[in-house]
Amino acid sequence: MIVVLKHGVSEEKKAQLIAWLQALGLRIHISDGEFQTVLGLVGDTSTVDIDLVESLEIVDSVKRVTEPFKMCNRKFHPESMVVEVGDVKIGAGNFVMIAGPCSVESEEQIVTVAKAVKAAGASLMRGGAFKPRTSPYDFAGLKAEGLELLKIARKETGLPIVTELMNINDLPLFEDVDVIQIGARNMQNFDLLRELGKLDKPILLKRGLANTLKELLMSAEYIMASGNERVMLCERGIRTFSDYTRNTLDLSAVPMLHELTHLPIIVDPSHATGIARLVPPMALAATAGGADGLIIEVHNDPIHALCDGAQSLRPEEFAALAEKVRAIREIVK
Ligand code: PEP
Ligand code: MN
Repeated sequence: MIVVLKHGVSEEKKAQLIAWLQALGLRIHISDGEFQTVLGLVGDTSTVDIDLVESLEIVDSVKRVTEPFKMCNRKFHPESMVVEVGDVKIGAGNFVMIAGPCSVESEEQIVTVAKAVKAAGASLMRGGAFKPRTSPYDFAGLKAEGLELLKIARKETGLPIVTELMNINDLPLFEDVDVIQIGARNMQNFDLLRELGKLDKPILLKRGLANTLKELLMSAEYIMASGNERVMLCERGIRTFSDYTRNTLDLSAVPMLHELTHLPIIVDPSHATGIARLVPPMALAATAGGADGLIIEVHNDPIHALCDGAQSLRPEEFAALAEKVRAIREIVK
């Protein structure tokens, strides 16, 4: 349930109302906007008398929220959320480029790529140390050593690290990671999502291969309801009958999600297409469509990459794309 307060309500009256609602056993999510204060009521609201609340002098309107997601619902939180990663702001008009290899392979590789993407305008770097692979015989990442190499690249460049966590047991290794990525295959690993809710760290939650937007939002809700509101969503392509691309980039998910949630929306055109030459046009389309950022795979030697070489841009290709992205941003912002 949403309670919108009248403009200019005193703090004292607001506190009295909140205390009364809390006494009914509800959790109250307060969103203080520039023009209005919105109270999001989480819990069993069936005992709340809507007419009574609506009749209160300080209340402007009351609405029942029919969607099952509350914490990540824009109705609860009309203003877009800004997720901060160090000095980098993401969301509410702050656009971010995240770039780097699919997997961390060596110190030289990750440092070279991190320097190149930084020079091109990326403000966060990506790189997988724990890799979910379809085949058990494929390279599955350098694991703890990969995380150490990412930290070396961060020291060299100042770029914060975005890297994937697959298993709760590895969580202690991720203490010094800036953004934890939850991959498509783990989007509905509910125990993992609950644990992420206990952290004070931004989470990049990727949409599952065959998951609906509502399911994606419910997964974000798991993290937020457990206490961590710093969640970014990532559209990375879904399974369809399209036969020439790895996945199908669901571009309309971007404006739809912006309507449904206040969380930042990042687009991954690399996994969505699987083909390096298709990455720039889809990255530009996503930028034009209102994405808050892009996550793009970049490798200094894609032909010899241990993972996802076919969809990886060379550093110079990323630099050319980044320039065009900035031009599109100028038009749409
Ligand atoms: C990745 O980012 O390298 C990755 C494995 O992504 P996804 O979970 O979207 O497949
Ligand atoms: Mn990849």
